[in-house]
Amino acid sequence: MFDDLLSLLFPKSCYACDGAMARGEKYICTKCSVKLPYTDSHVHGATELNPLQRRFWGKVPVRFAFSYLHFMPKGRVQRLLHRLKYKGAQELGEHLGQRYGSLLSDYSYPEQFDVVVPVPLHKYKLRRRGYNQSESFSRGLAEAMQLPHYNKALHRTIDTATQTRKNRLDRWQNVEQVFQVQHPEVVRGKRVLLVDDVMTTGATLEACAVALLAAGATEVSVATIAAA
Ligand SMILES: [Zn+2]
Repeated sequence: MFDDLLSLLFPKSCYACDGAMARGEKYICTKCSVKLPYTDSHVHGATELNPLQRRFWGKVPVRFAFSYLHFMPKGRVQRLLHRLKYKGAQELGEHLGQRYGSLLSDYSYPEQFDVVVPVPLHKYKLRRRGYNQSESFSRGLAEAMQLPHYNKALHRTIDTATQTRKNRLDRWQNVEQVFQVQHPEVVRGKRVLLVDDVMTTGATLEACAVALLAAGATEVSVATIAAA
């Protein structure tokens, strides 16, 4: 009853469409939940039918490549990511992680991984933003899949935001040295599920996977909220 009273006084709006939400809806309204552009990457697993998987071929061995949603430049996904990244909506990241984590659990994926690790932000960016948006998503994923979550396994040594004007090749040489495994003991001999918010070229995930494998991880898989 208290919850009902609260929602009457402070109606919450949907993070994806800004519309008012009905009782029982959480962060994303039912209409948006139905209409979100879900990928079926978890259905295709590690086969060539999964286009995300193919992005890593010939670059770095990635066991599974998953994304919850297709990235769309305008619309619901873009609004969700904006809320998460720039409006402090960490609870949304965790909620999306829990939803995707339970979906992956329905397909028995938790038994494929030993530990969940988010892509880190550089410490300056972390200080500016106050939180790592990928970490809230990976925390939700780990909770729903009942797997350990290590948010400090990887360390970002260079603030890549300052490097965006360089040409593509320079950027790639740069990104290769951007990540270090800070605590090799937590990934050594483990099958790591590496988590980021958005996958575009896959270069960031690739660089992290290289670092994790070099540190002794037996296998790396990747999962993101959205893939372009
Ligand atoms: Zn909505």
